[in-house]
Amino acid sequence: MSILVTGGAGYIGSHMVLNLADAGESVVVLDNLVTGFDWLVDHRVRFVKGNVADTDLVAHLIAEYDIEAVIHFAGSVVVPESVVNPLKYYANNTAATRTLIETCVRGGVSHFIFSSTAAVYGMVGLEPVSEDNVLNPVSPYGKSKLMSEWMLADVAAAHPMTYGVLRYFNVAGADPQMRSGQSTAGATHLIKVAVQTALGLRDAMSVFGDDYPTPDGTCVRDYIHVTDLVAAHALVLDHLRKGGESVTMNCGYGRGFSVDAVVKTVKEVTGVDFAVEHGPRRAGDPASIVAGADRIRAMGWQPEYDDLERIVEMAYTWEKHLGTRNDRPSVF
Ligand code: UDP
Repeated sequence: MSILVTGGAGYIGSHMVLNLADAGESVVVLDNLVTGFDWLVDHRVRFVKGNVADTDLVAHLIAEYDIEAVIHFAGSVVVPESVVNPLKYYANNTAATRTLIETCVRGGVSHFIFSSTAAVYGMVGLEPVSEDNVLNPVSPYGKSKLMSEWMLADVAAAHPMTYGVLRYFNVAGADPQMRSGQSTAGATHLIKVAVQTALGLRDAMSVFGDDYPTPDGTCVRDYIHVTDLVAAHALVLDHLRKGGESVTMNCGYGRGFSVDAVVKTVKEVTGVDFAVEHGPRRAGDPASIVAGADRIRAMGWQPEYDDLERIVEMAYTWEKHLGTRNDRPSVF
C-alpha cells in the first residue's frame, strides 16, 4: 500500500513527503513541475512528472502502487492572480480536483486529504474563526477551493471514501534539517519577503496598510510552521486509516502576530535593521485571520514549532541555503 502525494515537489507537499518518508511510508509523488522543483523531492520516494487530471496516468499509478490514500496539494495558490485569471483557478483547483477525485473513486482509493485554505471564510472579525463559521470566500482562489471541499463531501456520502479537509492559515518556515523550504521565485509571503530584505536581496520592503482596526494598525495573521502543518496531515491520515469519519480542520496555532511584529522579529533574528516603508493597504486583505484550532488539537495535534522566532530563523536559514545552490531559482 502506498500514498500518492500530488504537488509533492512544492513547498508544503515536499514537507509532507519528508514526514511520510521519515515514518517509513511508501510514497509516490505526482507533480507537473510548473511551480514545484524536482530537487525538493526526497530521494527515498518515487517521483512521477505529470498532471493530476491525466486520468490514464493517475489510474495507472493507483493500480501499480496500490494507492490507499491521496494527499492532494497540487493547485494554484496566488490570490491576486486568481482575481485576474479566475478560469486558471477553476481549472487547476476545481476541475482538475474533480477529475482526480473521480479517478480515485474508480480506483478504489480509500482516503483523500485535501489542501484547503482559510480563504474559504472570507472577511472575518478579530476573533479566531472556527470551522463552523460562515463560508464566504471573496477571491476566486477561495471559491475554487471551497467548491472542491463541497465535491469531496458529496462524493464521500455517495462512495466508500473518507476525506480530510485541512484549511491552512499562514504557512511559513522550513524543514528543521533544511531538506526543503519555500523556494518559489517571486514569492510574496511576508516572512519570505522580510528575510530576503534582511539578506539584501531586496532594497526595502513595504508594510501594506497600518490603519486596520488591530492593536498596532497592521494586519494580524496566524503563522504556522510547515512541519507542524504536515504533522496535522499525518494525524488526519492516521485517523482515517483507523476508520475515523471524514473531518474538516483548521490548521493554525490559534494566535496571531501583526505585520509589524513579524518585521520586528525578522530584524531581531537576523540582526539586520533593513528598510521598511509603510505603504497603502493591499486590496482584499482581511484585518485579521486567526485559526480556531480546538478541533485539530482535540485530535491530538501537538505542534513543535509554535514560536515565531524559530519559524523566522528556519525561513532565514533556508533562504541563505537557497542562495548557495547552483540550480536556485532567480529571486524575482
Ligand atoms: N504583507 C506586507 N508586506 C509584504 C507582504 C505581506 O505588509 O511585503 C502583509 C499582507 O498585507 C498581509 C500579511 O502581510 O497582511 C500576510 O501576507 P501574506 O501575503 O504573507 O499572506 P496572506 O495572509 O495574504 O495569505
